[in-house]
Amino acid sequence: MAGKEVVVIGAGFGGMAAAGLLARKGFDVTVLEKNSQPGGRGQVWKKDGFLYDMGPSWYLMPEVFERFFSHFGRKPEELYTLQRLDPHYRVFFGSGKKMDVLSDLKDNYKLFESMEKGGSDGLKRYLESASYQYKVAMEQFIYKEYRTIFDFMNRKLVFEGTKLHIFESLDRYAKRFIKDKDLRKILEYNIVFLGGTPNDSPALYALMSHVDFNLGVWYPMGGFGELARAFMNVAKDAGVKFVFDAPAERILVENGKASGVRAKGRNYRADSVVVNADYAWAEMNLLDENSRTYNERYWKKKAIAPSCLLMYIGLDKRMEGLNHHNLFLSSNWDEHFDTIFKRPRWPDDPSYYVCCPSKTDPSVAPEGCENLFFLVPVAPGLADDEQIRDKYYDKILTHLEKLTGERIREHVIVKRIFAHSDFTSEYNAYKGTALGLAHTLMQTAVFRPSHYSKKVKGLYYTGHYTHPGIGVPMVVISSEILAEEIAKG
Ligand SMILES: Cc1cc2nc3c(=O)[nH]c(=O)nc-3n(C[C@H](O)[C@H](O)[C@H](O)COP(=O)(O)OP(=O)(O)OC[C@H]3O[C@@H](n4cnc5c(N)ncnc54)[C@H](O)[C@@H]3O)c2cc1C
Repeated sequence: MAGKEVVVIGAGFGGMAAAGLLARKGFDVTVLEKNSQPGGRGQVWKKDGFLYDMGPSWYLMPEVFERFFSHFGRKPEELYTLQRLDPHYRVFFGSGKKMDVLSDLKDNYKLFESMEKGGSDGLKRYLESASYQYKVAMEQFIYKEYRTIFDFMNRKLVFEGTKLHIFESLDRYAKRFIKDKDLRKILEYNIVFLGGTPNDSPALYALMSHVDFNLGVWYPMGGFGELARAFMNVAKDAGVKFVFDAPAERILVENGKASGVRAKGRNYRADSVVVNADYAWAEMNLLDENSRTYNERYWKKKAIAPSCLLMYIGLDKRMEGLNHHNLFLSSNWDEHFDTIFKRPRWPDDPSYYVCCPSKTDPSVAPEGCENLFFLVPVAPGLADDEQIRDKYYDKILTHLEKLTGERIREHVIVKRIFAHSDFTSEYNAYKGTALGLAHTLMQTAVFRPSHYSKKVKGLYYTGHYTHPGIGVPMVVISSEILAEEIAKG
């Protein structure tokens, strides 16, 4: 296969995984990245001794990373230090209740029982079903390329589909096991990170509770920047060349075939081009209309995943009331979903997430200080001017001060707010989406945008818009599938 040149546009986890795997298969690979560091949405920001993971902070599904690095003859523990978090996370409810989800399952059964009679048994049964869903999904559906509807709608899926609860909503399904509304939120919160809602996402995604409760919540010491460096280094060892500060300006097409990429005024020749950059943006901005697989109308009709208002805050003191991961799940949780998916607007009473990695990792904040990362999921495509940012900074800090009973505002020594327009300028995100394409039933597997261009030979796509979807493990799998297909020729 040597001699076959591939250019990958984007050094997100998806792009680096594809590049490394193709290089291992003998391709001559160059990655062009618009920004100056690897990791894409998982890049880092450093300021005055604080180190922020700008995007992902939950290291989930460790087996996916083990499998990925094994293709290079490596193990994660040779590349970075992983720590299992305990508690996994702290949850604050709008009702005023607070609880820690722990790494020991038996403790979690007790916790559920303390809040609902029969809650222990409900959780046990829910997790048994979730782990079955996970096993079947991983073995049969996730690591698989879907070219046609027939690949998807085969007898197996129709048979397993009922058992996997593909045709039922997550919320309806979870209600069968747990009645308490707050407890049910613990079974459903992670669907937000897949860009969906409990009412509109298939109950198949209950498998995320297996990921959470059974596989554990982990943290790479040094943060996701360490993970990004590990991906880049294994790719480099396999021969991949990285060019940073090199935004692709055009995908070159000759006689219906990809022939290279123009960046920084130079043409990078290629036999194949892999796009890891935002799918919608790349099609609309790097290709002529007749070379696009999907037109603007297609993207307008799609359920685009949420954007986020992010706040990177450094405090000159420690906080007592927070854990490493903290979720605030508002009583107006349904209304918040409504503002994201049904009637797009800024939420009045948002649910939000606070990461405080300095609880685990002293390298991310100066001594005696605290590193805080706030994430408020919001609808894509909203205006996010200074006034709005200031309003939410105020709203969220006031809320957290009340919740923890600790003063925060006058201790802020680092502050950066990041929202829609930053996602667009930093990553070329369509409508400022943080996460790509939502996981509705009609945007699952074969219904996600294709790994292949249907118009240009030798042009491919990987990352969070494609199958299997959103999240670092998923984009790594997307690239494993793609690299296999490209190598087959
Ligand atoms: C705030 C936030 C929190 C998250 N939390 C988690 C979490 O806890 N756990 C988890 O697993 N996942 C999480 N995710 C999701 C996860 O980060 C993404 O699904 C994943 O990183 C997407 O990877 P990707 O390679 O598909 O795309 P990206 O990371 O977006 O990479 C695409 C790359 O293409 C580059 N690019 C764009 N245009 C061009 C161009 N013209 N030329 C060259 N390069 C270009 C971009 O700069 C970028 O580097 C989170 C995401 C966000 C935003």
